[in-house]
This record gives sequence, structure tokens and C-alpha cells, in this order.
Amino acid sequence: MDEFAPRVELPCPFEKIFPSLLVRNDDFYMKLAYNHAIDAWKIDEVPVGAIIEHNGEVIGAAHNLVDSSRDATAHAEILAITQASSAIGDWRLNECRLYVTKEPCPMCSGAAIMARLGEVVYATPDPKMGCLGGATSVHEIPTLNHRVKVRSGILEAECTQLLQAYFQMKRMKEN
Ligand SMILES: [Zn+2]
Repeated sequence: MDEFAPRVELPCPFEKIFPSLLVRNDDFYMKLAYNHAIDAWKIDEVPVGAIIEHNGEVIGAAHNLVDSSRDATAHAEILAITQASSAIGDWRLNECRLYVTKEPCPMCSGAAIMARLGEVVYATPDPKMGCLGGATSVHEIPTLNHRVKVRSGILEAECTQLLQAYFQMKRMKEN
């Protein structure tokens, strides 16, 4: 990825969480997403991480790369969807579940519907830009021919704290 701008390594005051490998539940996958969000922070990207699970396996794992790749579409969810589609050789992800640390934006909510994701689970709600229940609910448009199930609140405190601390740090640097 040599087209990427070199990124300054940024210290992150939060530790990664290493979940038990024995129980593969919501908590397990969201913790993996959280760890990717920390990786985003470390290269000074907004700390959002995403995991896509299929039959208990992780087939997509990414974090936000908008600044590094100078690409507005390089959100964690979009990158993870591309990986997952490539892994199973199908753009339809009906049997897959997306875990993401922040409620998806309009673009990523749309991508989840277009990829026919079975379910989206997010940690932190986003009342400003979130489109799966926060600002609006695009998955509830009555004429859609695919229904994405949506749940939220898994690891919410940790993921919210991470985002808030990152933006607080950025504001302090600006002043
Ligand atoms: Zn997005």
C-alpha cells in the first residue's frame, strides 16, 4: 500500500482486550472489533473497527482508513464487507454478521443492505450520522427487498469511551 501517506504513530491510552477463544459470542466478536478500533487510533484515524463473522469464523476485519488512504469510502465496515465478499466468493452476505464499534453512517448502512448482510451489531449509537436507528433507520424503509436485522449496545461503554477520548485528544491538540 505505498500510495498511503506515512502516518505518525500515536500513543493510545487504552489497552486491547483479549477475549477468551472458547466462547464465540457477541462479546467475543465486538472485542475483536474494539481492538481494530485501537489500531485505527494508533495511526491517528477515528477509532472505529469492524468484524464480519460467518459460521463462527472471522472473514472480515478492518478499521477506519479514511485519512491514510485519502478515501472517504474507507470506513471499517466497507473494508470488512469487501474482505468478506472476497473470502466467500459472493457479494451476498446473508449468512454473515457485521460487528462494528459505532453505528454505521449513511454509506455503511446502505452497504450493509446492498450486501444483504444477515445482521448488524453495533456498540455505540450515533444520533448525528447513524442510519440504523440513531439519526434515521434506513433498514426500515418499507420497500426494501432485504431486511437487515439490527442490534446494539454490545460493549457500548468501552467503544463510546474510546471515541470520546480520541475526539477530546484531537480537540486539545487543536487548541
Ligand atoms: Zn461508514
